[in-house]
Amino acid sequence: MSIFTDDIISFKSVLRLAYNFLAGREYLKKKKFKDRKKLISVALPFSDLIYSAGAVPVFPIRMEKFKVNAYLNALNSAKSLIGWDLTTRLLSFVRQFDVLKILDTVMDDVIHTINEKYNELYELGIDNGIPSDFCYGITGLTGMFISKGKNVDANLNFTIRCSAWNKYSESLKNYVPRQIWVDVPPREYGNAIELLTDNISKAITDLEDVTGNLVTDNSLKKQFRIGNQIKRFYKTVLFECSASDFYPCNPATFAEILALLGLSFQDYNSNAQRYLENFSYLVKEMRERIDKGIGMDVSDMPRVMITPVFGGWEPETHEILYNLGARTIYADWELLKMLEEIPVGRNSNPVEDYARFVMNATMRGIGCDQETLTDSYIETAKDLNVDGLVFNQVFGCHSISNCYSQLRRKIRKKLEIPTTVINFNKIGENVEQVRTRLGAFMEMFR
Ligand code: SF4
Repeated sequence: MSIFTDDIISFKSVLRLAYNFLAGREYLKKKKFKDRKKLISVALPFSDLIYSAGAVPVFPIRMEKFKVNAYLNALNSAKSLIGWDLTTRLLSFVRQFDVLKILDTVMDDVIHTINEKYNELYELGIDNGIPSDFCYGITGLTGMFISKGKNVDANLNFTIRCSAWNKYSESLKNYVPRQIWVDVPPREYGNAIELLTDNISKAITDLEDVTGNLVTDNSLKKQFRIGNQIKRFYKTVLFECSASDFYPCNPATFAEILALLGLSFQDYNSNAQRYLENFSYLVKEMRERIDKGIGMDVSDMPRVMITPVFGGWEPETHEILYNLGARTIYADWELLKMLEEIPVGRNSNPVEDYARFVMNATMRGIGCDQETLTDSYIETAKDLNVDGLVFNQVFGCHSISNCYSQLRRKIRKKLEIPTTVINFNKIGENVEQVRTRLGAFMEMFR
């Protein structure tokens, strides 16, 4: 597809992030059996408490065995021998002979590999009796637990305002006996923060029990600091790099990087410090390439935000949009308020501050009501200054997906940018309809 060899060769940080995502299984085995760490599963970006307890969070798909692209594997063997920098030089060298032409497809391959696995696990969920009217995300997640739930020591759940999600969370006890819950109050009533603070404290006690480690204010703040820095870098990619008229790589590759960041942000690839380093390097590399004029002039390509994608989406979409002359932005975690920082001041109360963060995310972002959610769409589209918005209507979602007509009305009144809706049930199932819809959508820019 669309990636240039130059893009991949100099994007060491992306290679590392991709490799760490795909090679999770080996890393997690090492953590569990050699380092005797507890593995705790988590879905949605709520891994901070697990890190603070000295355990290893895992977004369950990462326990799967992936077909790791041969070149990423080669890179990894080379890495252990000569380090990443030399590996990159080695690749540049090999490229002169045009031997590794297939590198052009590495990122595309990574995204397709992950999505193939998603589909496989979705099927596993269906085969095990998940009602077919559940959304793709929940069905796929259930499949992940059916497949590898036995490997984790506990699972951390946050209730959100989606009844299907909470039903799914409840069902996880069938696969992971030890369930740790953070009940999030459904509304922001008087003592909601107090209640949530208590519930988080209880979850912390459970985590201490599972890990045998003590969670202190310091360990929480240390983790929040790392998380805050990651969020800052994430915002830099979204607000600075993605807004540039010159991209550090092909825009379809850029969308794939955003997709990878969205997926890996849920557990920071099981190593927050390493993830932070890779993220910081990614921003540095992007800025350097933009400054040096390495990449692609995208000034005449409208920027289109596709959302929501965290519950499943058709990854061909950004490729189709690219071929139609647009660039794609995936920014779910920003939109769902997951990129807000958590205060870490000397006298702050980290448990209470975390409660405020979670409350804000669930009241104004994930699982909130349609009025608030559509406002959040409008606000994010404005902040990111996008030129168009594609709404991804997920089959079986009775919470988010119903809000498109309200959203369209608001966009017409407040933003006046082109918008359309595409439908999603399963990866690869609806590509032609998506292509037709996006074709008509892009006409609005001409
Ligand atoms: S909000 Fe919709 S997409 Fe998200 S978990 Fe609930 S049903 Fe699935």
